[in-house]
Amino acid sequence: MTRIENYIAGEAKPVKAYAPSFNPYNQETIAEYPLSGAADVDNAVASANRALRDWRRLSFRQRGEYLDKIASEIEQRSEAIAQAITLSGGKPISEARFDVLDSIDCYRYYAKLARAQDSQQNAVVETEADDLSSRTRREPVGVVALITPWNFPTVTTSWKLAPALAAGCTVVLKPSEITPLPESYLAEICAAVDLPAGVVNITYGAGETGAELVRHPDVRKVSFTGSTETGGRIAAAVAADIKNLSLELGGKSSIIVCEDADLELATSAVIGGIFFNNGQICSATSRLLVHESIAPALLERLAAEVAGMKPSDPSAEDAVLGPLACKAQFDKVSSYLQIAKEEGLNALTGGGTFAHPSCELMIEPTIYTDVPASSRLWNEEIFGPVLCCRIFGSDEEAIREANNCEYGLAATIISSDETRADNLAFELEAGHIWINTDQRVLAETSWGGMKKSGIGRELGPWGLAAFTEIKHITKPSGV
Ligand code: NAD
Repeated sequence: MTRIENYIAGEAKPVKAYAPSFNPYNQETIAEYPLSGAADVDNAVASANRALRDWRRLSFRQRGEYLDKIASEIEQRSEAIAQAITLSGGKPISEARFDVLDSIDCYRYYAKLARAQDSQQNAVVETEADDLSSRTRREPVGVVALITPWNFPTVTTSWKLAPALAAGCTVVLKPSEITPLPESYLAEICAAVDLPAGVVNITYGAGETGAELVRHPDVRKVSFTGSTETGGRIAAAVAADIKNLSLELGGKSSIIVCEDADLELATSAVIGGIFFNNGQICSATSRLLVHESIAPALLERLAAEVAGMKPSDPSAEDAVLGPLACKAQFDKVSSYLQIAKEEGLNALTGGGTFAHPSCELMIEPTIYTDVPASSRLWNEEIFGPVLCCRIFGSDEEAIREANNCEYGLAATIISSDETRADNLAFELEAGHIWINTDQRVLAETSWGGMKKSGIGRELGPWGLAAFTEIKHITKPSGV
């Protein structure tokens, strides 16, 4: 069995206690990970602080070169990392391979973006004052804490780590306790690219380890992806110290299918939007809003599609659904199926747990129709393979229904009328909107949510800006 160790100052550092990491498909122990305490976190932050002095002095181009090398090292280990994602989180292997490609793309994108930054350092700012000249510098925030969830290990990590390193920050990463195995490759990758010791430090552990990191006085920024509940706790913890904070949180996103939609496209967008990664996606379009005139035809197609989708061993090449990532997540989703029964919801498909000979953490792909707007399932993030549908009669109604939500992460619109789709996109309160396409997130575009889905944006130049501070230097002209 693999024993994962913390990675501090370029070395594996043992801790006092370890916890088992389970394969959710068969409950076998696949690794042991450190339960890092306050002293371990303190060592990691001290290491990041020591490394900051030299790392921040490198040019963007020099730091970008490391990112390119990290991408190549991930590429060499792609299959092993994909297998580790599947083994620890139950994600179908074909989807895990996509995740690895996404993270490689992210490191390469920030390597390229970094190369374009040096020429913009010390840019002169035009002002009205003839006697003064002012220049702008982008400087790293400092030591940053990166805290990530289990549903997209390596992806959510790359979205933070690549821009943080490009910016000149040094980091302490705290991966999710559910998926430490795929993240553990990062230590050998940092060593393989000769990253200076202490630039990347990794401390494993559960929420308490994350909380220690968040409250450490030498951490200047917390970049967090996870639930809205934990995000709120972190925001409260950093408030008194006025720490820089980015939050990527939960969602309850809508997919709007207009009466002019291509039915085949709509079917695949609805199915992918809720059943990809078993619905354990922050941007899962778990609310279907379908025009009344097209609803019967769409629901018929959805039911036929779901009839062919069975949860199975996620390592199988043809797996489309696996187990949920852990027992706690299975219990949470099961409790919503129970609430659905109490609320008297109509199950078009599923509605129960899935009986599998070797796995007890599977849920039937579930679609509820005619769900009242007051239903808990309509309003709360379930984070499982559960879709709720409502019909609408006008675009105004669809917008009102979609925006009547405390989250604002994403949305999908399916319509063959481009102007209409653009108008809907303009009205929706969400950070990322897809029109007539699946949920591809490109490294060049932004990622993040409105309302309770978060604060700030990752990816693109916005993701890099999130790890920098702007400094202006003003002096008499001609000096
Ligand atoms: P979670 O909030 O339970 O945990 C996320 C991370 O925070 C883990 O590493 C955990 O150990 C750590 N943590 C827990 N308590 C902490 C505390 N008090 N202080 C510091 N760290 C703490 O979330 P999860 O169950 O791992 O992930 C699922 C959630 O993440 C869903 O709500 C999903 O929507 C959200 N998510 C959002 C995005 C996005 O981009 N918006 C992406 C992926 C997942």
